[in-house]
Amino acid sequence: MSENTFEVRSPATGDKLADVPIASAEEVRLAVEHARAAQLRWAQKSFDERADLLYRYRDLLIDNQEKIADLVTGETGKPRSEVYGNELFYLYDAIGFWAKNAAKYLKPENIRPHLLKSKKVVSIYSPIGVVGIIGPWNFPLVLTIGDALPALMAGNAVVIKPSDLTPLAALFAAELAEKAGWPEKLLQVIPGYGDTAEALIDRVDMISFTGSVATGKKVMRQAAERLIPVALELGGKDAMIVLKDADLDRAAGACVWGALMNSGQVCTSIERVYVEEAVYYGFVDRVLERVKKLRQGPSAELVELGSMTSAAQLGKVEAQVRDALAKGAKVLHGGQRNPRLSGYYYEPTVLIDVDHRMDIMRDETFGPVIPIMKVRDAEEAIRLANDSPYGLDGSVFTRDRERGRLIAESIEAGSVCINDGLVNFVITEAPMGGIKESGIGRRHGMEGIRKYARQKTLVIDRFGMKNEPNWFPASKFKNQAVRAALRLFYRSGWGNKFFGRGGAG
Ligand code: NAD
Repeated sequence: MSENTFEVRSPATGDKLADVPIASAEEVRLAVEHARAAQLRWAQKSFDERADLLYRYRDLLIDNQEKIADLVTGETGKPRSEVYGNELFYLYDAIGFWAKNAAKYLKPENIRPHLLKSKKVVSIYSPIGVVGIIGPWNFPLVLTIGDALPALMAGNAVVIKPSDLTPLAALFAAELAEKAGWPEKLLQVIPGYGDTAEALIDRVDMISFTGSVATGKKVMRQAAERLIPVALELGGKDAMIVLKDADLDRAAGACVWGALMNSGQVCTSIERVYVEEAVYYGFVDRVLERVKKLRQGPSAELVELGSMTSAAQLGKVEAQVRDALAKGAKVLHGGQRNPRLSGYYYEPTVLIDVDHRMDIMRDETFGPVIPIMKVRDAEEAIRLANDSPYGLDGSVFTRDRERGRLIAESIEAGSVCINDGLVNFVITEAPMGGIKESGIGRRHGMEGIRKYARQKTLVIDRFGMKNEPNWFPASKFKNQAVRAALRLFYRSGWGNKFFGRGGAG
């Protein structure tokens, strides 16, 4: 391996997949410069023209989906079915969603001023310029190309720094964009480590980051130096609450899928479960029954669980489970690396007798572990769910939807599902993102595209009078008139009958 490249290896087999060149600071500078030129041309295109090019791109992705599935399974170790069902399904649907909705979300808005009726006021959205996207390794396409789609539809160019563990699918997807007729260098991928990402933050006009809390804080600090906007989609420790009136079969099914999908390497994975004591054993039995049936193995086989993607992540899961066992947790299933498989396979694991002294209940696990804790009642469950620095997603299971809604409202998280889990991510109309240390900003919905735009207010005078009452010169008459108006509009009394309690303002 030369100094300027890094190796990408399969986490499932250890096989080398590629040597990938590292983008130097100078190459990043050039990439952004080229992106700027491309952006100027791109911004001239109408929403319909941009949408047409996105649809052409989608056709090419579909024509190449077996190759893409090879790349994603190779670099992540995830089952092939998850590439089709998650990565590609999301990407194709998101292309259609942004192609159809960008114009609506970014349409100029007429604002009716309550005061200066002689002005027409319009709020418009224009592109920011070059957007940098820094991505993690758990969804190498969704969290790179997927996040680029609204930025592109808003008229920006995009430069992506993918994770050094999983750059291959994003590199290939960017090649396809040019084949689809997109302007040259409109979408670029610059592989590398943290240095490359830092060089990108130094050049772009906005940064959209998905990754860990620790790196997210560094990104925000660096972006603050240049005062560029940031969107941060960070980690989570999502809580699931199961009340005694829940449909336990549905809850158990949602839990097993929501905690173990992609081997638990999902930002919105169910990471901890609180169950009311009356149904605790019934729920645990149902979870166990389902987990025992799961198949784990190479991505080419029909399996539910593949390998984990990174050795470091596997080590973290092992350490958290060790810590939990040392503090009194019990393993009902799994609890170790899969002894039959040589890659980074960790068995789907069910832990009980867990509590908040344990790392497994407090730190993000990002692995195939379901820690289940018994709670007295819903109040205790809510208190424990909120006893976390994170606030990404959550879920609550109950047959009483009204109560479910009240509990969902008191869980500190960006999204909460009632009798469901994780599904909010594919509802692209719905804003998704974290509170507390889980991030700043939203992907999806109106907020998910307006963050990639500069909002500008236009104020247009309607009548073209020679003079305005508040312009110079000052006069006694104007003073008296303003004083009278202040009293009339804002003093409690009969004026309120006309203008409401807020007065004219
Ligand atoms: P990470 O923070 O280690 O790396 C993310 C990206 O940041 C990588 O591309 C990395 O090269 C880059 N990077 C490293 N140092 C940097 C620096 N100093 N400045 C800028 N960028 C730098 O995260 P990861 O391990 O790749 O991903 C897993 C994390 O991502 C988990 O915490 C997970 O919860 C989070 N995640 C969040 C969401 C979400 O939507 N909220 C989605 C997926 C993953």
